[in-house]
Amino acid sequence: MTRPVALVTGASRGIGRGIALALAAAGHDVVVNYASNADAAKEVGEAIEAAGGRAALVRADVSSAADRERLVGETYAAFGRLDLLVNNAGVAPNVRADLLEAGEESFDRLIAINLKGPYFLTQLVANRMIAQIGAGVVTSPRIVTISSISAYTASVNRGDYCVAKAGLAMMTTLYAARLAEHGINVYEIRPGIVATDMTGAVTGKYDRLIHDEGITPIRRWGKPADVGAAVVAVASGLLPFSTGQVIDVDGGFHLR
Ligand code: NDP
Repeated sequence: MTRPVALVTGASRGIGRGIALALAAAGHDVVVNYASNADAAKEVGEAIEAAGGRAALVRADVSSAADRERLVGETYAAFGRLDLLVNNAGVAPNVRADLLEAGEESFDRLIAINLKGPYFLTQLVANRMIAQIGAGVVTSPRIVTISSISAYTASVNRGDYCVAKAGLAMMTTLYAARLAEHGINVYEIRPGIVATDMTGAVTGKYDRLIHDEGITPIRRWGKPADVGAAVVAVASGLLPFSTGQVIDVDGGFHLR
């Protein structure tokens, strides 16, 4: 039987790694995209192959139009099809600055990676998916974007990150509306506080918030595998009449 193919951006570490491994365990072949950490990407590729899947490793910066073209080109060259795009790659602000003082340079960089990259990668992939549906290669491809609780939480010292994540929410709504007629369902997954390199620098602070203050009502850190399980669920084909949904994977953070 033909295995479905997933492209996961930022799959070398953290949440993207968890998504890639969950998809492989669920029977997908996976394109492991990364920015610079080739050793980590290689380890993920080996884990996918150990689970019986095929992996292709593609170094590409999602903020670069040329890299996005090459990423998609190499995906189809490796596997001949694409059933699932997961827009996961993202960065935290390299400077935390109050909203009244934040500069443009770090804003431009963050928006280019966290919002513009997924926006145009989705456009590129959607057009290829539509062509493949027309050719009968794939039947019901899916697009999933990893946003954040920051899409609706006012963190005034990282406005760039919040604006990008809120933008991904509208991006999901827009592509869900535009692609429904083609049978491409589009979803947004909102992780809460997940233990990765991104949150590692502020572990002590988050430990207190999670365990002592209950900011995450299920009083534990999220795991990359929690997000992976949600991606597998929406990619499963079991929700054919649902598109544009937001799936909170946040241990109840949104209930506060
Ligand atoms: P990590 O910092 O642990 O991993 C980031 C991943 O993205 C790495 O694989 C990295 O590749 C890749 N990456 C970074 N920049 C680019 C780029 N320009 N082009 C391609 N790939 C890139 O982050 P997380 O796993 O924590 O976060 C993943 C996503 O989940 C992000 O979108 C983040 O905003 C979101 N998120 C995270 C939460 C958390 O608590 N951790 C909560 C909510 C959302 P390389 O290894 O080569 O550097």
